[in-house]
Amino acid sequence: MAFIKFLGTAGARFVLIKQLRASGGIWFCLNETQFLVDPGPGTLVRALKSRPPLNPGKLTGIFLSHKHLDHSGDVNVMIEAMTNGGFSPRGVLLSPGDALEGEPVIFKYLRSFLNRIEILKAGGEYQLGQVSLKVPVQLQHGVETYGFIMTESGKPTIGYLPDTRFFQQLPWAYAGCSILIINTVLLEPRPDLYHLSLPEAEIIIRETHPKKAILTHFGMSMLKARIWEKQEEVSRRTGVEVIMASDGLTFPLD
Ligand SMILES: [Zn+2]
Repeated sequence: MAFIKFLGTAGARFVLIKQLRASGGIWFCLNETQFLVDPGPGTLVRALKSRPPLNPGKLTGIFLSHKHLDHSGDVNVMIEAMTNGGFSPRGVLLSPGDALEGEPVIFKYLRSFLNRIEILKAGGEYQLGQVSLKVPVQLQHGVETYGFIMTESGKPTIGYLPDTRFFQQLPWAYAGCSILIINTVLLEPRPDLYHLSLPEAEIIIRETHPKKAILTHFGMSMLKARIWEKQEEVSRRTGVEVIMASDGLTFPLD
């Protein structure tokens, strides 16, 4: 069984703190390998309350794109849950270096619960069970931030483009994915905020031309614009099937 489950689709502060959308991150299940991406606040509850429930004890690893709270709020409890409270050390954490140092968001006491911690770098390649992830580029988001492109025999399959401002190399970096997930916080570009907007996401979709694009991580302006009603309009404009993620959405693979 292979699917992507959106345990939350909240982006940025106000949607998060009011829980207008849940903030549980994204759960990937790829047959033998399950991994969790950006476990924001509420991930554990959302995972266990899913129907059927998702079992953190089955996770191979956790991918943390960056240390902001809406992505990392539940990362420690998910490491506890993945490792049976530390009694069954296992699993991998892929994390930017600055989430582990200075003011770390990963508690030190539970790092030894993990089989390994790998520090993300642009150009890095990482193995999570049977899944290979490549980090195409460092993103521009104020703190160290990385997305990934899953590869199968070297070919790109699913891409995750988390929080960043738009920059020229982005479409090039994410070219060739069949499914592209884009954190699209803003309805209109805001050069003062290091987040992607809908018109910028559309540029990336047009230029990378995936089979399907899934937009998620919505801020207030996207919810006020009732973005879920604009799937067809955006699909028509980009020439690509665009899906606006909703809380609990299970997206089947193959
Ligand atoms: Zn962020």
